[in-house]
Amino acid sequence: MRALITGGCGFIGSHLTEALLERGDEVTVVDDLSTGRFENVQHLVGHPAFRFAIETITNETVMDRLISECDIIYHLAAAVGVELIVRDPVRVIETNIKGCEAILRIGARYRKKVMLASTSEVYGKSNKVPFAEDDDRVLGPTTRSRWSYACSKAMDEFLAFAYAKQLALPVVIMRLFNTVGPRQTGRYGMVVPRFVQQALRNQPLTVYGDGQQSRCFTYVTDVVKAMVGLSDEPRAVGRVFNIGSTEEVTIEELARRTIALAGSTSEIVYIPYDQAYEEGFEDMRRRVPDITAIKTLIGWQPETDLDGILRRVIAYFREAEPALEPHPTAP
Ligand code: UDP
Repeated sequence: MRALITGGCGFIGSHLTEALLERGDEVTVVDDLSTGRFENVQHLVGHPAFRFAIETITNETVMDRLISECDIIYHLAAAVGVELIVRDPVRVIETNIKGCEAILRIGARYRKKVMLASTSEVYGKSNKVPFAEDDDRVLGPTTRSRWSYACSKAMDEFLAFAYAKQLALPVVIMRLFNTVGPRQTGRYGMVVPRFVQQALRNQPLTVYGDGQQSRCFTYVTDVVKAMVGLSDEPRAVGRVFNIGSTEEVTIEELARRTIALAGSTSEIVYIPYDQAYEEGFEDMRRRVPDITAIKTLIGWQPETDLDGILRRVIAYFREAEPALEPHPTAP
């Protein structure tokens, strides 16, 4: 297969690139390096089946050529991260909607299968957990910029289904829950790399709110297996799938476990949401996926548990930033 990965220099995209190359696919990565980093794929340069274009996905001429030359598109390019969303909502909305529209339109021109990365954020603050793919979505008001991300990705999903219906575009929608692993940066808000770096520096771990909100963290390698498995399964076309772990943890407990596994002397500090993000910020209390759909179709379920994930991320940051090495008793 000749795969085109938009956002291939990002954290998830770079792991997907490696997995596809490993199984013998040809991979072209397109990335504008806005949040992705070239270092994430640098080690692949020179691989005979790997090529990359540093380019924005709204460049019609370039994308027309790249899409015409591939068999399948993994559309991962998007502006993500709660901090980025709150800081720069214009960029988030425009990148996510215009970028996806371009991919779907050109994909439809050449009838190429599109694997669209979406997000559990689209469920919003619904408290009916676990979330199944056809559940109702509950979003806050438009005056809270946080919800613009959920809306932008939901609009991408609507667009994908619209192109499927009217132009027979083969699409698969992948709703990713909190994905973590090596190469993820904490710069745009993601909690696990932030906590791990804070713990390794013996700095306080910044828990937002009361820390009783929960999430399910999924290891990136598991997520990539789900993506590849769905792309290989013709019956996945035209459907949407949750991809996530069902091991639920509160953010306070996550902080405790990170400190313990890193052998850190850090303390936990609690920061009100208004201070962490912006006045009136709304968070979701619980977020748990129902993964019956993907399990039934391709037999997928995550293999790495939360402690395994944390150990790997801690090892990654120790190696990536040895200067952080903190504590004489660290395991
Ligand atoms: N969070 C936190 N401290 C941080 C960063 C995030 O307590 O330094 C919280 C955040 O408020 C949310 C959870 O951790 O409740 C997960 O945040 P993240 O941004 O990783 O993903 P989200 O699930 O919000 O998309």
